[in-house]
Amino acid sequence: MFSLFTGPFFLAAWVLLALISGVLLLRIQAPYGRYQRRGWGPLVPARLAWPLMESPALVLVPLLFALSEYRASLVAWTFVALWAAHYAQRTLVYPFLSRVAGRPMPLSILLLSGLFNLINGSFIGTDLFWSGRLLGASWFTDSRFVVGCGLFVVGMGINLWSDAKLRGLRSETQRGYQIPRGGLYRWVSCPNYLGEIVEWIGFALLTGSVAGAAFAVWTMANLLPRALAHHRWYRAEFKDYPAERRALIPFLL
Ligand code: NDP
Repeated sequence: MFSLFTGPFFLAAWVLLALISGVLLLRIQAPYGRYQRRGWGPLVPARLAWPLMESPALVLVPLLFALSEYRASLVAWTFVALWAAHYAQRTLVYPFLSRVAGRPMPLSILLLSGLFNLINGSFIGTDLFWSGRLLGASWFTDSRFVVGCGLFVVGMGINLWSDAKLRGLRSETQRGYQIPRGGLYRWVSCPNYLGEIVEWIGFALLTGSVAGAAFAVWTMANLLPRALAHHRWYRAEFKDYPAERRALIPFLL
């Protein structure tokens, strides 16, 4: 069963679905945050939605690791630790730091994202710990591991810093939007998304995992269209929006 789950058919279907989602998201903005609108079902508080929809990823990968025969592998511990560092922050810290109090999110987004995290977490955990790949200590000196770790740490740092910068633009009473400035905001509208994409490309490299690569494709499919939409929104909203700023990739896009 596990080999079917991580086999080429499932992988190809999963990546194809990511590409189709990416194309759809270029036309239809996911209806949360500034694009939240009627017609997507009942609303739940965003502060409740984030932990609920992200928790399957936080739980499943460590669980599949704990049940596997790689419990003594240092390399496997490293994979789980990096994964858990990201998802513990996203599930247990981000929603409570964010200025999202009173901001609703459609239940449909919670359910779709929760389902995505369920499938993605199962796929990653299975590929890393149940596909029979050997995880010897020599992997620690492999260039893919070293470069991947660098990208993961840098990407996560950019993502956390940029999200914190956005938080700093709001107070508990002031819920509007302002032009973010400083750091990578000098060059792009959405460095938080750029950081997230770099982070998951790094994870795919450092684990040498096809499931990790598929997740990096999904992250791009989700965040590239949203970055383009945010960029258009900023330019329409603020007449003094910096003209040299790009959406996602400095000087390019
Ligand atoms: P956004 O950048 O749209 O918003 C992040 C937070 O900052 C929200 O609370 C938002 O408020 C607020 N905010 C945004 N812009 C401004 C501004 N100009 N002035 C004041 N406040 C602002 O990010 P998302 O909500 O889409 O994503 C949150 C995190 O989740 C990011 O780190 C992202 O990388 C990650 N993510 C990862 C995905 C993946 O596929 N791996 C998919 C989606 C998100 P409000 O909600 O009111 O707009």
